[in-house]
Amino acid sequence: MLLPLLLAPPLAYVAYSWGAHLGTLGCVWRGRRSSRRIALTFDDGPDPEFTPRVLDLLDRAGVPGTFFLIGERAARAPDVVRAMTAGSHEVGNHTWSHTNLWKCGPRRTRLEVRRAHDLLAELTGRPPGLFRPPWGAVNLAVFPVLRRVGARCVFWSIQPEGLRPIDAATQAERVVRRAAPGAIVDLHDAEGTPNAPERLLEALPPMIAGLRERGYSFATVSDLLARP
Ligand SMILES: [Zn+2]
Repeated sequence: MLLPLLLAPPLAYVAYSWGAHLGTLGCVWRGRRSSRRIALTFDDGPDPEFTPRVLDLLDRAGVPGTFFLIGERAARAPDVVRAMTAGSHEVGNHTWSHTNLWKCGPRRTRLEVRRAHDLLAELTGRPPGLFRPPWGAVNLAVFPVLRRVGARCVFWSIQPEGLRPIDAATQAERVVRRAAPGAIVDLHDAEGTPNAPERLLEALPPMIAGLRERGYSFATVSDLLARP
């Protein structure tokens, strides 16, 4: 009698967090494989110092990027957000405070998504159609709110650096080696892992050159997902 009662709360939590991955059918990990295109995505910005440098590098290389922004950071650097959408880049939602959704109840989850969504819509003049959960962690409450705001949940197929720092040359080499048509690459243009933006600025030129050598061109995530 006692055992089911003791097990119920942990099981409910597992269903809410881990079990939510069963509901990721509408999510995407990669785009269409029909053409040799790749999306470079950048999480955790905008960083007032590094993101403009990343934008400048991408613009000079003619590469469109997709930036998953943290709402409270976007509120502190609105001009950087506007500069993204004035160019060829796309903006997506990465929650308001970069919280782990496994630790959020339904109410906090809604707030994290909606607050960032509304701010980004106001800054860019366009509601973001993409959402990336921090660390790829989702819960059962996130999908109804994403449906309501009309955003797709986007994971990645290549992540050259996780929580442990990886040097720039290795990151570039990993991305080029694992590249495949429709791949979505997860990069970081602001601090999460220590000094991630510095390594990114160093890794991007060889990464872009290496991918072009292998016949790849670049697209935003929405372009990668769009029907031909
Ligand atoms: Zn993140």
